[in-house]
Amino acid sequence: MNIINSDLKFQGLTYGNKPRMIIAHHAAAVACSIEDIHRWHLNNGWSGCGYHYFIRKDGRVYVGRNEKALGDHCINYNAISIGVYLEGDFEREKVEEVQYGALVKLSRYLCNKYGIDKIYGHGELNATSCPGESFPLERLRKDLGDSAITGEVSNGTSYPGYLIRFNPSVKDKNVELVQRKLMEKGYSVGACGVDGYFGEGTLVAVKRF
Ligand SMILES: [Zn+2]
Repeated sequence: MNIINSDLKFQGLTYGNKPRMIIAHHAAAVACSIEDIHRWHLNNGWSGCGYHYFIRKDGRVYVGRNEKALGDHCINYNAISIGVYLEGDFEREKVEEVQYGALVKLSRYLCNKYGIDKIYGHGELNATSCPGESFPLERLRKDLGDSAITGEVSNGTSYPGYLIRFNPSVKDKNVELVQRKLMEKGYSVGACGVDGYFGEGTLVAVKRF
């Protein structure tokens, strides 16, 4: 498929994205260009366009952020997803057919490339109305193949993250994050404090929480 290289200049991207899902967004703006988005996000103090791809209403597909770079589009999922952004405001208008066709093509390409079998609307993962009421999420899942592409996060049968278990011998950045959040809420995680190891102290804190 034809993807247009937008040649944006980014500032300080972080690499290491491991895509396991596609997350769809809308611009909540009737008209915008990839340059607009890039400028908005630089103004947010980000590295630049927070999404990996942008699809205009006429079906043109643009590269945003490098696929290998962490996104800035969905809290808690930026290191494990590809963010795709569509021009338009789907609270007020419908996705154009040619735009939808490009989204299906791009999604197929990404699913094959990374072995992805999940596609979500932003609002299924974060508290937001994005990508809008009329965004055809179910149709998209159907078109990408019923069996492979499912949105299981909402019915609780599958979770896109991974389970953090008691393991005092392995350091894990996500354990560190949990420890920090527990401490912020007033739960002691033990004598070692926030160290990234899921030991006895952290276990006690998790149980108390
Ligand atoms: Zn969004």
